[in-house]
Amino acid sequence: MSAQTWRKRAACRGLDAEIFYPATDDEADTAAAKEICGVCPVREACLEHALAYREREGIWGGMTERERRRIIRQRRKSA
Ligand code: SF4
Repeated sequence: MSAQTWRKRAACRGLDAEIFYPATDDEADTAAAKEICGVCPVREACLEHALAYREREGIWGGMTERERRRIIRQRRKSA
């Protein structure tokens, strides 16, 4: 799925982007974004995009930057 295609179907489309760029990784700060991502129909595509492009900021596919780094490490180990 191309980036343009999945972005059109994103649950966060039109929402305040600040929700997805919380001040900290704490649950209290990330809960709102994760809840939206949790019902997003293009969550997988969004997460894979963030992993592929090493997005450093914000919540993508329901995951914080730290959580995405963990996935990248796990994938490297199992490759
Ligand atoms: S997974 Fe979250 S950040 Fe990604 S498109 Fe969906 S709502 Fe937006």
